[in-house]
Amino acid sequence: MPTPPFREAVVDLDAVRANVAALAAQVAPAAVMAVVKANAYGHGAVPVAHAALDGGATWLGVADLDEAFELRDAGVTAPVLAWLHGPDAPFADAIVRGIDLGISSIDQLRRVSDAAAHVAASAAGSGGASATSGPAFVHLKIDTGLSRNGVPPEEWIEAVAFAAMLEEQGRIRVRGVFSHLANTDDEADRAQLAAFDEALAEASAAGLEPEVRHLASTAAAVRLPASRFDLVRLGIGTYGIPPYGDGTTAADLGLRPVMTLRACVAAVRRVEAGVGVSYSHTWRAERATTLALVPLGYADGIPRHASSRAEVLLAGRRRPVVGRIAMDQFVVDVGDDEVAVGDEVVLFGDPATGAPSADDWADAADTIGYEIVTRIGHRVPRTYGGGA
Ligand SMILES: *Cc1c(COP(=O)(O)O)cnc(C)c1O
Repeated sequence: MPTPPFREAVVDLDAVRANVAALAAQVAPAAVMAVVKANAYGHGAVPVAHAALDGGATWLGVADLDEAFELRDAGVTAPVLAWLHGPDAPFADAIVRGIDLGISSIDQLRRVSDAAAHVAASAAGSGGASATSGPAFVHLKIDTGLSRNGVPPEEWIEAVAFAAMLEEQGRIRVRGVFSHLANTDDEADRAQLAAFDEALAEASAAGLEPEVRHLASTAAAVRLPASRFDLVRLGIGTYGIPPYGDGTTAADLGLRPVMTLRACVAAVRRVEAGVGVSYSHTWRAERATTLALVPLGYADGIPRHASSRAEVLLAGRRRPVVGRIAMDQFVVDVGDDEVAVGDEVVLFGDPATGAPSADDWADAADTIGYEIVTRIGHRVPRTYGGGA
């Protein structure tokens, strides 16, 4: 057997395609936006974007404009929506590059409109309209109860009236109206849904005709059909990780985990009973045992909080992490079994292979699967399987 790589996150693009296709079939006739923010939740934005589009997504979603520009730089031409902007966000560049802008305040609307005017003026100055000289495509976001981003409900009427005026002037086109759920419980989600319906009615009364109304991310898209509207924004489901934290597995949802995090054993030692392991000796061997060293640590995104709690797949079985997870490495107890330097260690992957899931690591670290995959660090190369 060839020695496995020192450290590696294997990203299965077939699983991305299959997950998007399965979810798209479930939510149809609503369309799918694959959310590829944060480097596609740590999986690699560009390869995942292509695979998600192959799987049937028709939109891509990112948080900020740098993430959107990365997709355009790589030749991705599909509609891209970016919804989180600083006070100096380069809206003019976004308009020129055909990026849809999620808008969360009247001030942002004003700045986008000014940017659109600027882009139109320079296009006219350079001898004629180009395909990307505007209007700016915007999606107005209403805060329906997450209290995070979005136009506050008390400013919504003013915002839609202002947007309708800018649309009439040809500065913007309100292509979407959207909001985001708190995923608190069914009752709270339904209250947000009702608030969204009301906001849509007010937008329509102001004369806006958005092509896409969107509210649901993975959790509601799967379990609350009334939240699907025209488009659902699927992040975590794309990566084959369940959003619920209630024991529901990827397989229960018909999804396949996309990322497998693995390494090879870097050292093996036999220790006597009573020996302390790793910093502060928070774990001691109860009997003579064999320890394997894994070259991944918290610098690579392995949560220190999972010390002596998580498990890995090594030599055909799940084995406990023992002692503190350090910056670059941690130790696994393999008992009296045979292991050798160079053996493959799988931290998480598809449980069908016997490996823990990203969710198992999340449980061990008192967090969520989202945080496990998004924090995998730069030192871990991503390699692509399943036909990149
Ligand atoms: C991250 C994000 C999503 C995707 O959420 P998942 O739970 O990963 O599906 C959707 N919409 C917005 C606004 C987001 O920020």
